[in-house]
Amino acid sequence: MSKKVLLVNPWIYDFKAYDFWMKPLGLLYVAAYLRKAGFEINFIDCLDRYHPVLMKNVSKLPKSDLFGRGKFYTQEIEKPTVYQHITRKYRRYGMPPEVFKQILDGVSEPDSILVTSIMTYWYPGLFDVIKILKTRFPKTPVILGGIYATICYEHAREFSRADYVIKGPAEQNLVSIFPELKPVSFEHLPFPAFDLYSKLDYTCMLTSQGCPFSCVYCAVPNLSPKLIYRDCTSIISEISNYQNMSIKNIAFYDDALLANPSFSLVLDEIIRRNIKMQFHTPNGLHPRFFNQGLADKMFAAGFKTIYLSLETTDCKIHEKIDNKVTLQEFIQAFEYLKKSGFSNSQIHAYLMIGLPEISVELVKQSIDFVHSLGITVHLVEFSPIPGTKAFEQLGFDEQTNPCLHNNTIFPALNDEMKKQMLEIKAYLSKLELTV
Ligand code: SF4
Repeated sequence: MSKKVLLVNPWIYDFKAYDFWMKPLGLLYVAAYLRKAGFEINFIDCLDRYHPVLMKNVSKLPKSDLFGRGKFYTQEIEKPTVYQHITRKYRRYGMPPEVFKQILDGVSEPDSILVTSIMTYWYPGLFDVIKILKTRFPKTPVILGGIYATICYEHAREFSRADYVIKGPAEQNLVSIFPELKPVSFEHLPFPAFDLYSKLDYTCMLTSQGCPFSCVYCAVPNLSPKLIYRDCTSIISEISNYQNMSIKNIAFYDDALLANPSFSLVLDEIIRRNIKMQFHTPNGLHPRFFNQGLADKMFAAGFKTIYLSLETTDCKIHEKIDNKVTLQEFIQAFEYLKKSGFSNSQIHAYLMIGLPEISVELVKQSIDFVHSLGITVHLVEFSPIPGTKAFEQLGFDEQTNPCLHNNTIFPALNDEMKKQMLEIKAYLSKLELTV
């Protein structure tokens, strides 16, 4: 008889969260991998905005935008003690606990439960989910994996109440718990099990794993140290699969989409096959890899939103922290995109705030520059991630409560700089009103 596994994507507990093409892609890969190995799968995504039980229980659900993004269902909850001094409201994002429990009522007792994790500072929501699962199925072992479990392994082992915590890629490491499995590398995994959702506005996908850069603030070099590129045939076959499922939007989760040598071939194939989908790049593209031909193909293939990583306009800071872009490369990429036909409203730039090296004057200067091009600025708040160079250089301690990694509270700044950053955010909001 096949083993029954319940897979759960937990709530987010935070000051802010938005469904910006946010799906638990790692967990969906694991679901497909286990299913292919003969396991019987049950899946609950606490962030599913269209779960039938949520839709039945809640009278008004937030709407999606043109590209499938939207607000989560949310409820204000009590803040953990470490956040007591923060005046913002703290919330649970995702289905209410009663809905989660009602869904669990319909699940027969599994042999194992797998729970994923993402941001380190979202662990309070994860722990509440594990608590409910352990109450509902006291005899079933809970296995915790994902990013928080990998980065804060000791914390997860000590406090999560999971029976097993696994570090690193599940497709390599689950074999220690399920000896019947064979480890498989990323590029040979079956396509993520998006069919487990009853309704989808979008899917997400990866054409590669890892990144050729090594920015001091980023966890990717530790989480995915090996660069793996999928080939064109496999990528196109996955896209066609989503097309057959009548999905309109695909968001690429790659950390370095344009570095994949197959990417240009994928665009050729999308154009040749006349695939009519809308593609998005929420993870930020590297301006360095653009040329006119590539921008033209992206436009023709149906890319609708382009997010460029700029972080700051100061090249000296880039030399210190990431060496991945110069202002000249950014301007050049912007010009290629404009010439291809992308409108200003389709092009966005990420700027980083909250790193002490990037002063408030510099953030303002960078905002003014991007704004002068007529494109949208997105501020990305720095979060200190254990294991990164920035975490060490800024003197953070591995023992610190992961809630204190939360980017909303500007963990790396002193009180004066925190105040100035809030003023900068207000400045940006005013500028946007004048576009
Ligand atoms: S380029 Fe992006 S993904 Fe790559 S290391 Fe830097 S921040 Fe991380």
